[in-house]
This record gives sequence, structure tokens and C-alpha cells, in this order.
Amino acid sequence: DVRVRFCPSPTGNPHVGLIRTALFNWAFARHHGGTLVFRIEDTDAARDSEESYEQLLDAMRWLGIDWDEGPAPFDEASGGSGGPHGPYRQSQRTEIYADVAARLQEAGFAYPCYCTADELEVRREAARKEGRPSGYDGKCRELTPEQIAAFEAEGRTHIVRFRMPDEPITFTDLVRGELTFAPENVTDYGIVRANGAPLYTLVNPVDDALMEITHVLRGEDLLSSTPRQIALYRALAQLGVGNGSTPAFGHLPYVMGEGNKKLSKRDPQASLNLYRERGFLPQGLLNYLSLLGWSIAEDRDIFTLDEMIAAFDITDVNANPARFDLKKCEAINATHLRELPAAEFVSACEPWLRAPYAPWPPESFDRAAFEELAPLAQTRLTVLSDITANVDFLFLDEPVEDEASWAKAMKPGAENVLRSARTKLAEAVWKAEALKEAVLAAGEEHGLKLGKAQAPVRVAVTGHTVGLPLFESLELLGRERTLARVDAALT
Ligand code: GLU
Repeated sequence: DVRVRFCPSPTGNPHVGLIRTALFNWAFARHHGGTLVFRIEDTDAARDSEESYEQLLDAMRWLGIDWDEGPAPFDEASGGSGGPHGPYRQSQRTEIYADVAARLQEAGFAYPCYCTADELEVRREAARKEGRPSGYDGKCRELTPEQIAAFEAEGRTHIVRFRMPDEPITFTDLVRGELTFAPENVTDYGIVRANGAPLYTLVNPVDDALMEITHVLRGEDLLSSTPRQIALYRALAQLGVGNGSTPAFGHLPYVMGEGNKKLSKRDPQASLNLYRERGFLPQGLLNYLSLLGWSIAEDRDIFTLDEMIAAFDITDVNANPARFDLKKCEAINATHLRELPAAEFVSACEPWLRAPYAPWPPESFDRAAFEELAPLAQTRLTVLSDITANVDFLFLDEPVEDEASWAKAMKPGAENVLRSARTKLAEAVWKAEALKEAVLAAGEEHGLKLGKAQAPVRVAVTGHTVGLPLFESLELLGRERTLARVDAALT
């Protein structure tokens, strides 16, 4: 039985790299008919926040990345318990970690270390100068009870350190193949702070063991902790913590941002909220994120999540860094938007046609009128938030004022064309085709093609230089309002 986990720390806002990790774990679980465990790694009270925790749940629900076990049900309406291995928030598992840490020490897998930060730094520096590996040098490995008593009498505090075996650790990474870590590069490491607080290095593998995780799929930045965790797993197995097996590991490639630098959490382009606010579709964003290290087939960028699940194989993931390409992300989203059934497109747009996104009062929104315009908009949007400016002419009393657009469309002579258009529009049957003929004829009088002739009409009526097909828009806006706006522009 496949059991994977997504185990973020609730700090800051969710970012795209984190979501890529969630997505790959989810696709792997669903492909194998397995279980996705959602665990919250909130053992760092100084950095973790409840707001961040809520945001994580909300983000996963919005994206539709449903989990099988976790701190709260995926579907709030249907409720349901967290799962058989709970609690799923590490802040509620303190006793478990204290117990395991004590047992590790009793069995000799870990030991108290009294070295101070200053002492460690001095020795690290010396090692560096002599070109030796600069990890922990094992000073407190074999302390006698007398030495311990002496340190205690001095008033020193201690951390708990895990004793790494003096032999290489080899494992087969699902993405990178066989990897070997030499003991001099993976030295004894802290698992419990001086104040008794357990560290990530302990709680993450302990929970993976207790929750019977079979595959750990996570970012490449955690690769260096894997040999340590494997050693800890072996110790846990001997203590009977968990079911005794070590999970397989797969490390997902780095995501690179601008200037070929690692996309950092703080990069504005990395924030999931940004994509949500701009109106990406979950399926569009996830389709793009899946391409960060994986592909469904050569020359194929667009697919559904079901197709991804059916095809997903972790061993197909590429170990090379993946570049985050916003333009491509937008293009993929636009394709998903176009493929929505008409009614779904209308509903998806609605939030952007209401407060706080829409600049018109709620009573001005006319759903029926929007439904008529929607098919024209559907092929033109990149993100849902684009809809607001495309239809504001219909719901605002007056067109938006935008000096730059006005200057661009109202070149010398434009006023004369607009005047002719006013006359011919007033006489036309109020249907798109006839309105087009009217503006075409007005242009001809002034030696202008349709494109040039319609520019001043568009800006007078909509306030914009680009937008939905103009004549259909005028038809929908109606004779009275259209002519009033042209008149206003001419005075
Ligand atoms: N809480 C860790 C993080 O967010 C999880 C790392 C892991 O997957 O092991 O970095």
C-alpha cells in the first residue's frame, strides 16, 4: 500500500514550489490508489502561525488536492475524522517525540552533547583551516557519567545528538538513482534542543515511521538530510517504532526563477495567493506546475489532472532544475479557460464581476447581459481577473477614464470620424452587422480602414483601446447609451 505525505511547516504564504511538492505526492498517491497524508510540521513556535495553517488548508481545498488523512477533513461539509495515525499536527505530538528521544538515548543511538555554540564554532573553524570536514567532531560521543556530572555542575545545558554510524549510507533515489554519502560528510546531528524542544531532524522521520509512509517525495533542498534520516529510521526499527521499514526517497528538482536563481519563497512570483487573486484556474495552474520536472509526453503541454494521474510515474521526473516560466503558465491557463463549458466559464468569472474586484455597484451587474458577452470573452482571457476591464463598459454608468488610451485613440482627425460615425450609427438598425457597416462607411468618408475608424468609437464608448469585439459590444450596450457616450466624447 502506497502511503505518501505532504508535510509543510505553517510559515508565511503557500508558494508554488510547495504546491508542486503537494501535487506530485498527490498524483503519485492517486496513480497507485494509495493514501495521501497531510501533516503539519509546526514544532517551531517562533515561526509557525495559525493563519498560515489556515491558508494551507484553504489552498489545498481551492486546488482540489484532496488528502485522505490530515488535521481536518478535506471536505468541510462532509466532515469526517482526521485518520488513524493522528494527531496530524506535530505541535500535538510532543509526548511521542519526548518518549522516542528518551528511548534513543537509552539504547545508545543518541547522546547528550554539552558543547556550546562558541566551542563548536572554534572547532569548525580550525577544521576548515586544515581542510578537514567541518561537521560535528564527536567530542561528546563517549562521555562518562563523571564528565556528564561535571558539565551539569558547571551549569551547562545539553542538546541530544544522534550518533551516525561510521559507515557510508547508500540509497536509490527514485529520481536521481543510487547515491552514497560518506560518514565524514554526515556527522552526528542534533535532534532535541537544549530547552527540550524536538527538532525537524527527529520529528519528521519519527512521524514518517509511525504513519507508515512508504515514499518520501520532497524538494532537492532536503537531500542532505536523507542519509541522516535513513540512519535514524534504522535505529527506530530496532526500537520497534513504526513498522520497521525505511521509505523510498525521491527528490524533486529545484525550481528556478528570474536570472536562473532558485525561486525563493519571498519572490513575489512564488506566492500562490497571487495566482489565485489573478484568477488562475486550479486545473490550469496545476497543469503548469506539473511540468516543473515532469512531462506527460514530448510536445504535449496541456492535459487534465485525471490524465496526469493516469500517466504519473515518479521515475520519469527529471533531476535537472526546472525553470519557472510565467508566460507559459499564463498560456496554459488561457487554454484551460477556453476549454471550460460556457456555464462554468460564467460562474468562474462571477467573483471578478462583484466586489471587491468590480468597480461598479452590485446592483449594476446584469448576469443575463454578461452571459451574452461571455462567449466573446472566453477566447480572449489569460486569467479570470482580465474579465473586469473587458466588460466594465457594460456595468459602469460612464466609461472608465484613461488618459493614455484616450490619447492613443484620439489622434488628430479622429474627432471627425467619430462625428460621422455618430450620424450613421444613429440611423442604423441596432444590430452588430449594421453597426459595423455604419462605422465602415464613416471611415470611408475620411479615407480610413475599419480598424482605424473604430478606434475612436471604442475609446468613446468603453474607455479602452482594446477589448471584446466592438459591434457586438455596442449592440448589447444599446443605442441610447452608446450614442450618449459618443456625444459626451464629442463635447
Ligand atoms: N516540514 C518540512 C518542510 O516544509 C518537510 C520536509 C520533508 O518533506 O521532509 O520543509
